[in-house]
Amino acid sequence: MKSLREWLKWAEEKQVAIGHFNVSDSEGFKAVTEAAEELDVPVIIGVSEKERTFLGVAEIRALVKIKQDEGKPVFLNADHTYSVEASKEAVDNHFDSVIIDGAEKPYLENVLMTKEVVGYAKGRTLIEGELGFIGQGSTLLDNIPDGVSIETQTTPEDAEKFVKETGVDLFAPSVGNIHGLVKAGEPKLNIERIGEIRKIVPVPLVLHGASGNTDEEIKEAIEAGIRVVHINTELRLAYKKGVEKGLSSDELAPYKFMALGVEEMKKLVTHKLKVFNGIN
Ligand SMILES: [Zn+2]
Repeated sequence: MKSLREWLKWAEEKQVAIGHFNVSDSEGFKAVTEAAEELDVPVIIGVSEKERTFLGVAEIRALVKIKQDEGKPVFLNADHTYSVEASKEAVDNHFDSVIIDGAEKPYLENVLMTKEVVGYAKGRTLIEGELGFIGQGSTLLDNIPDGVSIETQTTPEDAEKFVKETGVDLFAPSVGNIHGLVKAGEPKLNIERIGEIRKIVPVPLVLHGASGNTDEEIKEAIEAGIRVVHINTELRLAYKKGVEKGLSSDELAPYKFMALGVEEMKKLVTHKLKVFNGIN
């Protein structure tokens, strides 16, 4: 079976992006993997520190392993991991990739912690680093979070330096993207900046916080060099909408009222995967 590293090369050759969707339970897992299987595309399951605490690290690893043993291109990412310790735990638990998130820390501290995790992984797990703060948490926001502005967007020079100094396998820049969904409207993605960073950074670029960005913008970002796109907030909204519908019926069986949540998530994931993979 092709590894995540090989699928990233495939995405680069095809000029597409691999979808990354966060889940915190087996319903989310079912929705994301069914959508990817039906479209026959690779997919990354993301679990943040809190999501994997709720679901269980060994439990989500086991679910993904079942798919991988069947030869399905389903991969597991330890999303936003804020400590070196928790990152090492994810490496030890055979996650396919880990994001060590030092984006809110001073540059040097971010470099040192990221470098330590890269050294620990020794290529067993792909390590993603982040530079440029884009807020935290996948929720509905009234305004753009404090500390995020055009000035905090990642410059091509800093990106090149950071990737070289840390040795990361994947890189997440701040390019107008924001974690969560801004109710008053999302800022625009800085497509030009993505292209500039892509030109001098030799590793795949990851777009976080793509909930709320239009399909058109995301397509342009992929054309400019994005190879992984993260969706969480929109998936949470879809899930809640479906479950609310299920709960307002007379159904008592969880597999019936929860099924509506799965259905809503699956619809959303299918749509996003078509956009990311250039499928009409
Ligand atoms: Zn993120």
